[in-house]
Amino acid sequence: MSNPSRRAILAGFAALPIATAAAATERKERKSKKRKPARPRVQHVDVAVVGAGAIGAWTAWHLVRAGLSVRLFDAYGAGNGRAASNLPSMMLDPVQGGDALYAALIDDSRTAWERLSDSASLPILTPCEAVTALAAGDAVAEPRGADRTTGERLRSRFTQIAWHPEEAVLHATKGAMIAGRRGVLETILDAQIECEDIVMPAPLRDKKQGLYLLPDGGTAQNLVYATGAWLTELFPQILTPARLSAVRQQVFHFGAGQGDTQFRPPAMPAFVDRAYGFNLLPDVEGVGVRVWKSAPDASVDPDSFDRRADIDAGARALADARQWIAARLPRLADAPVVASAAAHDCRTSTGDLLLDRLPGQDRVWVVGGAAGRAFALAPAIGARVAAHVQDAARPIEPRWALARLTGGGTP
Ligand SMILES: Cc1cc2nc3c(=O)[nH]c(=O)nc-3n(C[C@H](O)[C@H](O)[C@H](O)COP(=O)(O)OP(=O)(O)OC[C@H]3O[C@@H](n4cnc5c(N)ncnc54)[C@H](O)[C@@H]3O)c2cc1C
Repeated sequence: MSNPSRRAILAGFAALPIATAAAATERKERKSKKRKPARPRVQHVDVAVVGAGAIGAWTAWHLVRAGLSVRLFDAYGAGNGRAASNLPSMMLDPVQGGDALYAALIDDSRTAWERLSDSASLPILTPCEAVTALAAGDAVAEPRGADRTTGERLRSRFTQIAWHPEEAVLHATKGAMIAGRRGVLETILDAQIECEDIVMPAPLRDKKQGLYLLPDGGTAQNLVYATGAWLTELFPQILTPARLSAVRQQVFHFGAGQGDTQFRPPAMPAFVDRAYGFNLLPDVEGVGVRVWKSAPDASVDPDSFDRRADIDAGARALADARQWIAARLPRLADAPVVASAAAHDCRTSTGDLLLDRLPGQDRVWVVGGAAGRAFALAPAIGARVAAHVQDAARPIEPRWALARLTGGGTP
């Protein structure tokens, strides 16, 4: 190989200032790119998912995995402070009150959360046992994923809980605590989709194109409204507050002493006390033991209600929670409240999930409800919504049908 000629080298040198100038120009251009308007979005998608809570996020996840084009909208943004999915932690209870329909969603959901947790930078799922103390008249047929036992037998296993020797208890070893807000954000990340801050109105159909119009001029073949308690605001004639509502619950976090790990998993289980109507989640990530009453204390407007717990003088919620703690977890009787909040859940008049088409709109789905369990079951619920979107002939689960709330009639 011959050496480069002097002329060629000089020519190279001569070219240098020009190359440098070109690079400088390029740099300048790169800077000005920032001022360019955002790239236009895809104008048409297979599905627009409205609501980026746990159900919407998992619905979008499954649709994306199935190869469909998807946009995800939220009026307040993903992981926002008003969403029901915004609590720090949620319980995945294999018992689900002994209800076989929901227990069937557990395994799929647990696997999905586990897989997400494995790839996240911080754990999303923390394994934890779950115990349900039954009330006297509770008829739980065949609890799946749990053993029927007594307080007496659990006395040495969970010494933090004051058991009544004869009380019937369901004991599940494969429960889990799921990170709430973080769980939603990770699901959206894992779906490799962006949540757009868009307020979606009720469906507007372009009959000529056979498509639904989106607020920014885009279109979608299908719409999924996973807006939880906001379904009432969007569809006031069908989903009246008597059929679906935002119910307020006050939650109190009690803090154990320094270095005290007995109220954290794996030592402490999640505890549903049906006889007294209280729920308790063990302390994960140092947020304290969370306690709330099963019965909601008010119906609220999810847009505007005050999310502080009502702990003013005369308010019963904290006093009731303390009284229950003193009776059931005496070692926490004097524990300070380290956090408190009012949160809402989306409750249907049947207590079930709602998953159905909007009347007269074959390609518009509404999903929400299943108060107290929808977060943990969101991966399996999302999978079912995605399956319906892809197969219009798939039968609706009768217990989740809109007709159960409307009494069969449409407005
Ligand atoms: C005290 C308490 C404890 C609970 N504990 C548990 C538990 O241990 N385990 C469990 O599984 N569940 C639990 N839940 C229930 C759980 O929090 C909810 O069921 C679940 O998070 C509901 O999720 P979602 O996606 O349906 O609704 P949300 O999380 O409320 O999401 C709805 C989203 O829709 C958006 N939106 C509304 N309108 C529009 C619009 N027009 N356009 C665009 N976006 C819109 C909202 O901004 C919101 O982000 C608990 C609830 C409470 C209150």
